[in-house]
Amino acid sequence: MATTVQAPALRQIPIVPAIKPEAMAAVRPYQANEKIQEAIGFPVKLVDDWKEVALAKMGDLLGKYRSVQVFLDACVHCGACTDKCHYFLGTGDPLNMPVARQDLMRSVYRRHFTLPGKLFPKLVGARELTREVLDQWYTYYNQCSECRRCSVFCPYGIDTAEITMAGREILDAVGYGQKYSNEIIGKVHRIGNNLGLPGPALANTLEGLEEDVLEESGVAVRYPLDQKGAEILLVTPSADFFAEPHIESLIGYGKVFHAAGLSWTLSSYASEAGNFGMFIGNYEQLRKIALRIREAALELGVKRIVVGECGHAWRVAYSFWNTLVGIGAGAADPYAVQLQSQLDQRYRQPMHICELTWDLIERGALRFDKEANDHRIVTFHDSCNVARASGMGSDPGGQFTIPRNIIRAVANNYFEMESGTTHERTFCCGGGGGLLTDELLDLRVKGALPRMEALNAVAQRNGVNFMATICAICKAQFTKVLPYYGFKMDMVGGVHQLVSTAIRLS
Ligand code: SF4
Ligand code: SF4
Repeated sequence: MATTVQAPALRQIPIVPAIKPEAMAAVRPYQANEKIQEAIGFPVKLVDDWKEVALAKMGDLLGKYRSVQVFLDACVHCGACTDKCHYFLGTGDPLNMPVARQDLMRSVYRRHFTLPGKLFPKLVGARELTREVLDQWYTYYNQCSECRRCSVFCPYGIDTAEITMAGREILDAVGYGQKYSNEIIGKVHRIGNNLGLPGPALANTLEGLEEDVLEESGVAVRYPLDQKGAEILLVTPSADFFAEPHIESLIGYGKVFHAAGLSWTLSSYASEAGNFGMFIGNYEQLRKIALRIREAALELGVKRIVVGECGHAWRVAYSFWNTLVGIGAGAADPYAVQLQSQLDQRYRQPMHICELTWDLIERGALRFDKEANDHRIVTFHDSCNVARASGMGSDPGGQFTIPRNIIRAVANNYFEMESGTTHERTFCCGGGGGLLTDELLDLRVKGALPRMEALNAVAQRNGVNFMATICAICKAQFTKVLPYYGFKMDMVGGVHQLVSTAIRLS
């Protein structure tokens, strides 16, 4: 597939593309097979009465998530969101305009849940839920990375990502699941992480890492696993355990803990920060995955929970862990209460690894040789879920300032990308929201176009040769798509990769 995919030519930004109807109609992810569906308790194939089941599920979601109903009712078709989605900008397919993506569901909602739609369907743009419509949902709700960029520009704050999540949840309820996300969720339930890396393999990897760091730095930095009584439980995306450049950030976290004299551990049971339950919009899956972290924290007796570099994981931790499973605050069941009394409330629970590192830097607890990063001219890519769906530290906008402060503390050369493409207006990497799968490579390459254009501009202007980010999906996506745009794949890396290069260990 890689050889047939072609990247569009880089342009000056911003440019609204010409409309290309159905340009991406044939691009869809593989459907989950019976085994995958069964493993997570979903119908194994499209149920016979799928239409009734889908409409019943839709009614259920409209009652449960009032935001979905508000979003379906509130749109005035002003058009402000139309050119804000990277997938529309990269493909020209009109169904990748956020408002059109919403209308795929809004039309069915009007037909079956509103009086005008029942009486005068044609007048209000209402449609029956047919098999063709269901297929269209599968295609275009799997061409949205749930990045929420469009919501920033909508005068009503309509969040297309929530419509996408509802669409995927309905599809799962009728047995029309997406292979990539559902298979990963099954692996987390069975093994503990997205990659299916069992405990012994994890232990081996960490031992190897200790040897590598000792050889490189001459210092015995530890990467502990399942260490009861450690102060900190680090929960990080499993890609950090082996993938490049992710592992460089894991090395960096260990060096920070070592230099600050903090005791910490990883868990073989909760060896995944990512939570694909959010991508498929399923509360039960989201909670079940998050519960593993609560159980590991209780078992290990830790005082703090820190989350590694992963965008959507941080959104789940920051925004949902409290009410989902009572980490830090929220739920009131006995295990949640026990954990809340166990955790040290002098610290934010959970805390992002960048927050921890920046706090240590501010207190003068870490020292750096910034020149060690002088071969790098750095820019920072804000990851969607961090930028638009979370915070960091105690100050508003900390999710923007803290990673940048760290970079400036450890590297001498830093430049920003164009202002309309960073902070809350950042462009998605093109691979988020459960789309990081090879059969969607065409969509991923085209969806990366706006970010690649901004990167190209700062590379031309300031000679940038390194794009730092704090998301495992962004790292994996950019590693894959950068070469399509003429950049080197190792141009992307983590903020803690930069920390790792410059930190003094003794
Ligand atoms: S949430 Fe992101 S990917 Fe989805 S429609 Fe909006 S801008 Fe596009
Ligand atoms: S910006 Fe908001 S109100 Fe306007 S078309 Fe888009 S979703 Fe509808």
